[in-house]
Amino acid sequence: MQNIGFIGLGIMGKPMAKNLLAAGKSLVVYDIVPAAVEELVSAGAEKGTSPRDVAERSDIVITMLPNSPHVKEAVCGEKGILEGAKKGQIIVDMSSIAPLVSRELGALLAEKGAEMLDAPVSGGQEKAEKGTLAIMVGGSEASYEKVKDILAFMGKSTLVGDLGAGQTTKLVNQSIVAVNIAAVAEGMAFAKKAGVDPEKVFNAIRGGLAGSQCMEDKAPRMFEGRYNPGFRINLHIKDLNNVLETSRSLHVSMPLTAQLMEMFQNLAAEGHETLDHGALGLFYEKLNSL
Ligand code: NAD
Repeated sequence: MQNIGFIGLGIMGKPMAKNLLAAGKSLVVYDIVPAAVEELVSAGAEKGTSPRDVAERSDIVITMLPNSPHVKEAVCGEKGILEGAKKGQIIVDMSSIAPLVSRELGALLAEKGAEMLDAPVSGGQEKAEKGTLAIMVGGSEASYEKVKDILAFMGKSTLVGDLGAGQTTKLVNQSIVAVNIAAVAEGMAFAKKAGVDPEKVFNAIRGGLAGSQCMEDKAPRMFEGRYNPGFRINLHIKDLNNVLETSRSLHVSMPLTAQLMEMFQNLAAEGHETLDHGALGLFYEKLNSL
């Protein structure tokens, strides 16, 4: 049986790793937070002592870390994955990071004969727990075929292109989601100011062209002021920062994404960075004195 390593046991990584254990997979886990490792060990995983240790003991290493610097540290840092990487090994980075960094790390791992796939996810904690995430994969078809069945325990995967294409797809997703949530908040603020009950507006239009998964999840949150995460504003700022840095390097103009970055930063500056990104509703409440 293939040994699987799992590094990064936070909100998303923990349930994803637990789903692999539940599927009977043999797992070596590591996180800089010892309590997270202990929880997985209690669930049947083996304890890893560093990313290098995990890499030395695994055929496939999965990482689920916050952002580019954390993945760089886990791969290239002291006792990092690179020190334990070996020929034929596959590193599957499921974190949401900059595509350029995925490609840089992939080149370093290739020098050791290992291959990297980028496989960020969409869906949040609930879908991570249910094993129904959307997984966007970049890398070679041959390596994807080798890990496809393992990814299936965490969600539905799609190979979208070469290394970095998974991250690019995730950035597209994050840009569209941000703009969608803002559109819902803006429309509902307008309805309220015009004296029409926003909940009635929602029920009237949700089945039409304006209806969306964003509207279904976020509109009720806005009506109730229910902004517990979900997906935190500070993570969305991190993703939009990766979108805007990448778009600048490609000379692509993304005025809506730039605007959303400002709106999220405004909310963060007011102390709301750990609220759900649906708190764009608050931004419009303040803007229009609602
Ligand atoms: P999190 O902060 O809850 O978990 C990250 C984990 O990584 C933590 O346990 C932390 O201790 C660990 N860590 C950090 N640096 C490390 C290192 N060098 N070595 C080992 N462990 C390290 O974050 P999360 O919500 O699980 O998100 C993980 C990734 O998934 C992010 O890129 C995020 O954008 C993406 N994502 C999150 C959601 C969501 O709803 N939370 C949804 C989709 C995608």
